[in-house]
Amino acid sequence: MKLFDSHCHLNDQRFQGDIDKIIAHMHLNGVERCLCPGSNVTDSKVAIKLAGQYSEIFASVGIHPHDAENSDDDSFAQIEALLSSPKVVALGEMGLDYYYDADYKEKQIYVLEKQFEIAGRCKMPVILHVRDAHQDMLDILKSWQNYLFGGIIHCFSSSAEVAKEYVKLGFYVSFAGPLTYKNARKLVEAAKLVPDDRLLIETDSPYLSPEPVRGTRNEPANVRFICQKLAEYRNQPVEQVAELTYANACRVYGL
Ligand SMILES: [Zn+2]
Ligand SMILES: [Zn+2]
Repeated sequence: MKLFDSHCHLNDQRFQGDIDKIIAHMHLNGVERCLCPGSNVTDSKVAIKLAGQYSEIFASVGIHPHDAENSDDDSFAQIEALLSSPKVVALGEMGLDYYYDADYKEKQIYVLEKQFEIAGRCKMPVILHVRDAHQDMLDILKSWQNYLFGGIIHCFSSSAEVAKEYVKLGFYVSFAGPLTYKNARKLVEAAKLVPDDRLLIETDSPYLSPEPVRGTRNEPANVRFICQKLAEYRNQPVEQVAELTYANACRVYGL
């Protein structure tokens, strides 16, 4: 059984000096590949560097909504230039987060659409971070649908109805640690409904450790716990969920 962690921040400071160990844990637990996303220009460069050092790691470059406030034309130009680096397979993470930064809605939407322009121009899939902002994201995606080349709703956090809308727009839906928590009722319904060929798993390391390792620093090896829960909720063999999420990650990232 081989697994693909479709989203983990190995470029986070909390992993500094520890990557060899993290990669060894991945191998011990069947995790063969992972995607390290950028959140701003600086850590996008770190993601590219890690991808150059480790065959298991692929990278994406982008500006997270938390970093939207401090980004300008120069940041967009740098992100676009970084897209041509080896092993960069997507643009993101980017998105809308009204949970933390509701005061900067307009700036967040501006920075998102700037990156959509780049994604369309460079024919790259996008990795979307969406928190408490699904209606706005769906409305925006509908107007960009024909210009974009698809992508991922990472760390999905909403209902089955919302998941269905994203699938209709051609997007993949990625489940993370919260699916394993006790209060995940709404997420479970969404997890049951996403079609086999649109499903992804991720850890979002170092955040959101799944059960039964909740509260520790999360790492890609833990993606197996999310795979197990997903298999249980979908009533599918765990090997099948591993295989299809691995194939889906390779397809969306063009590997
Ligand atoms: Zn995110
Ligand atoms: Zn992330």
